[in-house]
Amino acid sequence: MNVFRDSRPAAAAAPSARPTPPPSLRQRLTELRGPGIRPRALDARALAALAANPGCRRRALLDGAGVDKGALAQALGSPAGHGQSRFALARGNSFEARVKADGGAELLRLLHARLPSGTPAPEEGEVAAPDLAAAGPEGRAARTALALREATAAGGWTLLDHPLLAVEVAGSPAYVEPDAVVVRPDGVWTVVEIKSFPMIDGAADAAKVGAAARQAAVYVHGLEGVAAQVTAHGERPARVGDRVLLVCPQDFSNLPTAAAVDIRKQLATTRRQLARLTRVDEIAAALPPDTTFDLHLADDGRTATRPADELAAAVETVDAAYAPECLAACELAFHCRGRSRERGAVETLGRGVRGELGSLRTLDEVLAAAAERTADAAAAPADAPGHGAGPEHPAAPERAPEAPGAAPDDTDPALAALRRAARLRAEALGTAGPPVPVPRTAPGAEDPVCR
Ligand code: SF4
Repeated sequence: MNVFRDSRPAAAAAPSARPTPPPSLRQRLTELRGPGIRPRALDARALAALAANPGCRRRALLDGAGVDKGALAQALGSPAGHGQSRFALARGNSFEARVKADGGAELLRLLHARLPSGTPAPEEGEVAAPDLAAAGPEGRAARTALALREATAAGGWTLLDHPLLAVEVAGSPAYVEPDAVVVRPDGVWTVVEIKSFPMIDGAADAAKVGAAARQAAVYVHGLEGVAAQVTAHGERPARVGDRVLLVCPQDFSNLPTAAAVDIRKQLATTRRQLARLTRVDEIAAALPPDTTFDLHLADDGRTATRPADELAAAVETVDAAYAPECLAACELAFHCRGRSRERGAVETLGRGVRGELGSLRTLDEVLAAAAERTADAAAAPADAPGHGAGPEHPAAPERAPEAPGAAPDDTDPALAALRRAARLRAEALGTAGPPVPVPRTAPGAEDPVCR
């Protein structure tokens, strides 16, 4: 019997013993979504919301991995409470089709009227409308960039219907799709946002206009990268306008009207916040290796079969930064709010209150800090009936700071303000005893007052 001795190094001789190379980011993000699940595209509304909460690593990772947060929230038992209805979407689509009818003649007329540039309005047949179809988002974004370059070089009017723009978000590309971009003969590119909320007597709901401006700022941010390349390599310089055209139905009709919206402030905020996002690869690298947000969908492709507690444990591996603003902007808001309330985190009271409370991180710490000093100030002995931390007030000693040795800093101005408020409240109620404990909402229960 011949015996062959393997002379290769041990590592080469035993492939199974070789260290497995870490998965690439793309592979890791696929694992996080679940095998065979297509990544969910980010729209500008989602990007604007992400930019509004740059401290939330959870959202940055889930959006970066293309996880369907709505389906995840449903599987967690906390479905999102917002989103556009089918009727609103249908109404919006039909209004947009009307605005863009006849080669965008009405849209160009509105643009020329609201954002005059000194160039004559385009005549019929003078507006180019390039075909932007291509395979995949990368192909469509490249086709858009080429069309913008050609339109700028041509020096005429061009209407790009639903161009696709790439925006780098936390180190990975995201694709956003404005309703339209118009290239003027002077090389200025203007973003057009078409919304179905009405403009009554020339004014629209300020909150809706603000949301549209934040969305448009994401598009302008995406266009700026293309404009820089066109200017560097093209024949004529390109510039992205910092005023966008907002088109809405006029009064209560279906006729379009428009307004120019200055988005410089929103653009500066978007740039700053997107730059602050932690890179997705850093967040993914810090996760336990087997973490996944796979819902284990049943054969119907919609029903999640993975247990909710297992999913919740996976979600908890990534830090969140909950704030009440999440309720209007993120599908996971009810889940994150529930967890935040269970911990008694002061963030549930809003960013303003969180900032005011300084080093106090939980409601228990806040109540304990206020109760301590009020009890100190009590005229009656601490063990007298009805005062202090006796059996009649069992809540007071329970409100000590949670972490041992984590007593609040006496020099904290927030603490001084709290104690003063507690003293004033005690005086107003005619008692020097500790404040009446505030009932805490049970986990998962709706608080009728505080969102
Ligand atoms: S709801 Fe949760 S995941 Fe979404 S942004 Fe707020 S904290 Fe982050």
